[in-house]
Amino acid sequence: MSDCLFCKISLKKIPSRIVYEDESVLAFEDINPQAPVHVLVIPKKHIPTALELTEDDNALIGHLFQTANRIAKEKGIENRGFRLVMNTNSESGQSVYHIHLHLLGGRLMHWPPG
Ligand code: 5GP
Ligand code: ZN
Repeated sequence: MSDCLFCKISLKKIPSRIVYEDESVLAFEDINPQAPVHVLVIPKKHIPTALELTEDDNALIGHLFQTANRIAKEKGIENRGFRLVMNTNSESGQSVYHIHLHLLGGRLMHWPPG
């Protein structure tokens, strides 16, 4: 989608600090990190929210989680623990309408979230 921020990042029209990339996903550092590790994992395909996922996206979503796991291991936080979050619609705090998995870690996480 031409006016989508994360599509532009995925097409390198807007720079980002890329952590991992393959044909279907991109992972990059969040511009406003909320933890020592804060990486966003996105599909290259434009999907506005988790509500628009279809069965055709099942493998893609699995791949998003596998990518997040791989980065957590690379960052050495897998045993301490980390949090994976996908905000959906406004009350959750979703601000970019192209799905993204937040990988947060490197500090103690609190529950319930704010
Ligand atoms: P949401 O609030 O939609 O769940 O998460 C959007 C995330 O995108 C936020 O954590 C925000 O800091 C991040 N973000 C917004 N604009 C940019 C940008 O231009 N570059 C990067 N790397 N992250 C961004
Ligand atoms: Zn998009």
